[in-house]
Amino acid sequence: MQTTINAALAGNPNSGKTTLFNSLTGSRQHVGNYPGITVEQKEGCRLHGSHGIRFVDLPGTYSLSAYSVEELVARDFLINEKPDVIVNVIDASNLERNLYLTIQFLELGLPLVLALNMMDVAERRGMLLDSAKLESLLGVPVVPIVARSGKGMNTLLDAVVHVASEHRKPSPLEIGYGADIEEALRDLKPLLAHCNSLYHLYPERWLGVKLLENDSQIIEKVRVCAPDKAEAMLVRCEETADHLQRTLGVYPEAIIADHRYGYIKSILRRDVVGSIQVADRLYTSDRIDRVVTHRILGPIIMALVLFGLYTFTFSLSGNMVDWLEGFFALVNRGIDSMMADGPLKSMLMSGVVDGLGGVLGFVPIIMFMFFGIAVLEDSGYLARVAFMMDRIFHFFGLHGSSVMPFIISGGIAGGCAVPGVMATRTLRSPKERMATLLTVPFMNCGAKLPVLTLLIGTFFSAHQAWYMFLATMLAWAVALCAAKLLRLTVLRGEPTPFVMELPPYRFPTARGLLIHTWERTWQYIKKAGTVILGISILLWALMTYPGLPEERTNIFESQRQEFRTVHVDDKGALEKALLEVDGAEAAEQLRYSYAGRIGTALEGISSLAGVDWRTNIALVGGFAAKEVIISTLGTAYSLGEVNPEESGSLSGRLAKDPNWNSVSALAVLVFIMFYAPCFVTVICIAKEAGSWKWAFFSVAFNTIFAFILAVLVYQVGSFLYLH
Ligand code: GDP
Ligand code: MG
Repeated sequence: MQTTINAALAGNPNSGKTTLFNSLTGSRQHVGNYPGITVEQKEGCRLHGSHGIRFVDLPGTYSLSAYSVEELVARDFLINEKPDVIVNVIDASNLERNLYLTIQFLELGLPLVLALNMMDVAERRGMLLDSAKLESLLGVPVVPIVARSGKGMNTLLDAVVHVASEHRKPSPLEIGYGADIEEALRDLKPLLAHCNSLYHLYPERWLGVKLLENDSQIIEKVRVCAPDKAEAMLVRCEETADHLQRTLGVYPEAIIADHRYGYIKSILRRDVVGSIQVADRLYTSDRIDRVVTHRILGPIIMALVLFGLYTFTFSLSGNMVDWLEGFFALVNRGIDSMMADGPLKSMLMSGVVDGLGGVLGFVPIIMFMFFGIAVLEDSGYLARVAFMMDRIFHFFGLHGSSVMPFIISGGIAGGCAVPGVMATRTLRSPKERMATLLTVPFMNCGAKLPVLTLLIGTFFSAHQAWYMFLATMLAWAVALCAAKLLRLTVLRGEPTPFVMELPPYRFPTARGLLIHTWERTWQYIKKAGTVILGISILLWALMTYPGLPEERTNIFESQRQEFRTVHVDDKGALEKALLEVDGAEAAEQLRYSYAGRIGTALEGISSLAGVDWRTNIALVGGFAAKEVIISTLGTAYSLGEVNPEESGSLSGRLAKDPNWNSVSALAVLVFIMFYAPCFVTVICIAKEAGSWKWAFFSVAFNTIFAFILAVLVYQVGSFLYLH
């Protein structure tokens, strides 16, 4: 029995469609050299093996927007007639331009065969085309042909039959369109879900992109399909357009086109073409890239840029951080002098002000960091960083776009996993995204740094810089290995073929930078501020209640009385003695409190890693926010309030404590680096992953992993050094 395959020839004007059509079907059609000659479709048949193939010659178009009749005719034909195969005819001597249309076919999820036409012209120009490479990068068959001489026809027909007989609807290509467009697409998604009848015709993401492109035909269809939702969608699109106008001074269409060209450019950069012809506007970008992504110069420049970013951030924010800390200290002093002692005062000072101060103290750093990152991002440099790191990351089952989340989370020094987790939105493969999401919290964020500094400064002061460097390297190594582990087990799956968008460089506008910086900083203040405030109060309560029973407080009180009579003449000695009693009482009170009981209960297992009950409290508190570890350690070691920045006295206390030594310090260090991400991060992971399951997994996985590591360090270390 003979089957008939419906195939359509599509491509840019003058790519040789009609010539190919004639060569395949033998019919004589007028071959014109100007666009628009083939407005109505011509049909012809061809026998290949046992298959009859019906070819339709579509009008030539550069794009599939709704700007011209040809484009609409071609698009409607492809959507409504649903040919089994689309043969995309491409002028090989002008690849970049021609692939623009190809990308749009792929975004529509159409079954495609690429006919790389005019290979004779390309060869004459000395271009070397690697069609196999192009095939693997695009994921569709690519057949080099010469339509005029009929060369490659059989291979082309084989490919057509092959794709048609697969009867598989390819999943639509998804190109990242940058933060603003992506956010709009995410918002449009639930609204578009109401357009059932459009759904089986167009990919959902494509519909969103078209709405943002202001495509009149699609807008009309959406209006008919979901009359009550259409307005909301259009308003959302307008918002995005306005926002882009304000920040970058361009329309969404331009951004979308830029990213498509960026995508093509990055394909062509992968040694597909020996010598590339580049569109004029992209030429400068290419020249810059020749230096900036150079094999040797590239990484050096990248290191300098990142180092510059941190120097910039820390030098500018230093004074503001001091100022903010001073401000919060002042507020506490004010409360101290104005209010009578009591639980409310204690809660305000230890719970509210310290908690808020801990979070808001980071705002200047976050702000300058985001500003620097906005400069790198808006200018297009970040895409290059990801491009350079991709090979390494690919090996570990991640993607070039994973690099930025890692750096934002603290990959160099300082940072925060919350924006890091949000930055994984640029990743489009769900499994690679999930692997990135779950491993970015391993980086040394800004809140872990003071703890690391404290422990390293106390127990390894001779090699401080080295240990700090090692901690950074260790974080990367562990994160990458954990990613590999996840990708080999729960997140098993094919890597997405590496194609990253390299958008052209743009000069960032001051307005755009300010808006981007402010948006992100505000997000941090809002999210972290509300959650941490609550947690801080909760922790205060856990460490304060229940209070010691009266008979115990009476004993301390009588001790005080005793000292007052003993040291009646020596004021200095009395003060010292009273402080000691206060300390002892605070320690006992802490052990008696809920938090203390939790810490003590955990001692059974934590002692395997050399961790005592007081440190347990700090570690449990650290789950709320890593900033809490130092202040809780301070309280737990009965020093009263310890400022994370002035931890000298705590350091002395730890050094003298019999429960602590360099081995247990190292074990705690490792544990703090890798255990459960802080609460805010976990919430963000749940939100980004779309389920609490993964957030829970991240808490359990990281904690168990960190615990095993800490026990190993402690047991092996004790065996080697303490016996
Ligand atoms: P269409 O607009 O896509 O239908 O393109 P046409 O079929 O009208 O071809 C445009 C021009 O390219 C004509 O002059 C063809 O002779 C020429 N042409 C088509 N295929 C080839 C080829 O493989 N090699 C060369 N050198 N010229 C070709
Ligand atoms: Mg034609």
